[in-house]
Amino acid sequence: MTISTNANALAATALSTRAIHAGQEPDPTTGAVVTPIYMTSTFKQDGVGGLRHGYDYSRSVNPTRNSFDAQLASVEGAKYALSFSSGLAAIDVLLRATLRPGDNILLGNDVYGGTYRLLAKVFVPWGIGLDVVDVTDQAAVAAALAAHPNGHYRYIWIETPSNPMLGITDIAATAALAHAHGTKIVVDNTFASPVLQHPLDDGADAVVYSTTKYIGGHSDVVGGAVLLNDGDVREQVAFLQNAAGAVPSPFDSWLDIRGLKTLDLRVKQHSRNALKVAQWLESLPADLVERVWYPGLASHPGHEIAARQMHGGFGGMVSVQIAAGFEAAKRFAGATQVFTLAESLGGVESLIEHPGAMTHASVAGTTLEVPANLIRLSVGLEDADDLIADLDQAFKAI
Ligand SMILES: *Cc1c(COP(=O)(O)O)cnc(C)c1O
Repeated sequence: MTISTNANALAATALSTRAIHAGQEPDPTTGAVVTPIYMTSTFKQDGVGGLRHGYDYSRSVNPTRNSFDAQLASVEGAKYALSFSSGLAAIDVLLRATLRPGDNILLGNDVYGGTYRLLAKVFVPWGIGLDVVDVTDQAAVAAALAAHPNGHYRYIWIETPSNPMLGITDIAATAALAHAHGTKIVVDNTFASPVLQHPLDDGADAVVYSTTKYIGGHSDVVGGAVLLNDGDVREQVAFLQNAAGAVPSPFDSWLDIRGLKTLDLRVKQHSRNALKVAQWLESLPADLVERVWYPGLASHPGHEIAARQMHGGFGGMVSVQIAAGFEAAKRFAGATQVFTLAESLGGVESLIEHPGAMTHASVAGTTLEVPANLIRLSVGLEDADDLIADLDQAFKAI
């Protein structure tokens, strides 16, 4: 059913080695070193039902997609990876495959706006109960879980670092709390990436990614993935993936494969650049900067947990509150020359955005609303001093 992988030999190697080799065996026909883009919808059968290596139809199974799934599972240290046409497609299928009307979700109060929109506007009308809690506050999570009989919440859903406030949740402690109440925990690990954080090792039941971000890494592909160790849940998710069809194209999978090979190097440099930018922002006077949010700063309320839970850096995302307020923050976001004003994150190029008016406009007026003077930076791989000079001139322009 899958291209044979050298998974056993690779299991003991470092993440950077697995990222380059797992699922990437030379093409059996030609020896092509890079996994080909198998741009085919269907596969010849050797007599009725005589499938070659299980390939029949590309919604169900495609060699380029399998190659990415094997590579990503290995990098994550997960038994199973299933890739999707977007991060939200991955989230949708994981939830729809495993929830039934009447089930309830406890959602972190600082999650990707699109995740909240999917749950509040699509799942709730289909009969899923949704409660929101500050997941960085263990006492609040404990109180929410204790307020109902065990098993009331099928899932607690967290992002850490969260988007856009970079809130840090203790995954192991939250998983222990959830499991004691018969609740499973899902971690959206998009911001940390598998380089910095391993939620399954910390007790999470499932991990989701928008591979659009750091894994693709070059702002040229939209994709998502679900990572699991539970074979039964894998079967449920794979069934719905095939039944509903939100699969990535072979070309999307190939771009994700290429991106994932350099993820380790990129995320470590994103983290170094972001720390420099965050430290510089924090050094500015109070009439310019109200507050910097970066888990690598000692001033961040989640710094100690992040230092324990994240390995090798704190990621490339920095948020900053502009002291002069909403209008000044919007002018600031429009005044940079190296940072590009755009949604999304995790690519090689630095991006700047105003969450309240852009990525998080859909949560305005809800408990997930973000500060009006907040600016979010996706710190890229340009020279850190050039990035700082660009922000410096943008402050002078507001
Ligand atoms: C972008 C993003 C998503 C949604 O992913 P898409 O690929 O845009 O569908 C989900 N979670 C987080 C944290 C994200 O940043």
